[in-house]
Amino acid sequence: MSTTAGLPLPRLSRGRFASTASQEPLYAYTDEALFARTGVRVAFSERSGGVSTGAFGSLNLGSHVGDDLAAVEANRAALASALGFAGAPVVVPKQVHGDRLVAIDGTRTVEEVRADVAQGADGLIVRTPGVAGLLCYADCTPVIVVAPTGAAAVVHAGWRGVAAHIAVSALSALCADGAARPGDCNVYIGPYIHAECFEVSAELRDAFARDFGEDCAPDARHVDMGACLRRDLGEAGVAPERIADVDVCTVCTTERFYSYRASSGTCGRHGAFAALSR
Ligand SMILES: [Zn+2]
Repeated sequence: MSTTAGLPLPRLSRGRFASTASQEPLYAYTDEALFARTGVRVAFSERSGGVSTGAFGSLNLGSHVGDDLAAVEANRAALASALGFAGAPVVVPKQVHGDRLVAIDGTRTVEEVRADVAQGADGLIVRTPGVAGLLCYADCTPVIVVAPTGAAAVVHAGWRGVAAHIAVSALSALCADGAARPGDCNVYIGPYIHAECFEVSAELRDAFARDFGEDCAPDARHVDMGACLRRDLGEAGVAPERIADVDVCTVCTTERFYSYRASSGTCGRHGAFAALSR
């Protein structure tokens, strides 16, 4: 694991990459300055540049949604290759809306980690260079945390994960034993269902308002997951300027992202990817 003396402030930009799977370009949000300075690759993928068709078109990364598994594998490999990790093993958990985090840290083989996360996990801590962590989304919030130690965490924060403080758990894991301070970590938030499209029951709305403050629930039936995450991470010591957000609503942007709500449940999954090159 490399040590990176101070991370650059997080900055996400939308990039166009060549795809090994398709003639179509592959688009992803990345932090190029972070990658150049530290070798830590973080990315949020869009839905172009893959080989899946129909509701899954085209860069579907989810293997549990009814898509052709060979297409999903080709899409995952294309994403890794586009991001500079051609041929790297990609670890993808079975996401269960829990708060369990699993580390890729060299104490176990990739196959052992894969067998473990197949039992259910909603976050990966990536500490080993050359092995990518990938989680899949269609409206839930993708969150990546990077520590100045050169380790990264990727979590799946649906409303259950947000309520269970999974992003703060990932931050704490990266900072355990004084390895890093929360204030020195970068946080990246990918595309998710924004408050205006996230109508929930009055009971759920009230529960979030109680736990995260009235500002996190703009009216009687809507909740702002991004505001909840910012508040939670802020209380844990992350400065506002250390949080970057692609600021895109999945429900409103189905030409670029998958949305479970907008597609009545039949759709692919975009991804949040983290890997270390050194
Ligand atoms: Zn929206």
